[in-house]
Amino acid sequence: MAPPRKTHCIHGHELTPENTGRQSGGGRYCKRCSVERVKEYYQRNRSKVLQQRAEHYRRNRERLCAVERERYHRKKMEAF
Ligand SMILES: [Zn+2]
Repeated sequence: MAPPRKTHCIHGHELTPENTGRQSGGGRYCKRCSVERVKEYYQRNRSKVLQQRAEHYRRNRERLCAVERERYHRKKMEAF
């Protein structure tokens, strides 16, 4: 017999289709929990995260600028 379908995650969030994400391996996860995990991680490692972000930006500045330019141009074209 297949295990009963879970309706709530281990933290009590309801597992609606909107709140359920799919993992690449085929599993399901609670989106609310994953958001909260990220928030918690951010709060606990604030300076580290900011440092990593700054480092990431420094390393990818050229590419990020290109993406921004691309987005800007596309928006301009859509306005016509
Ligand atoms: Zn949850």
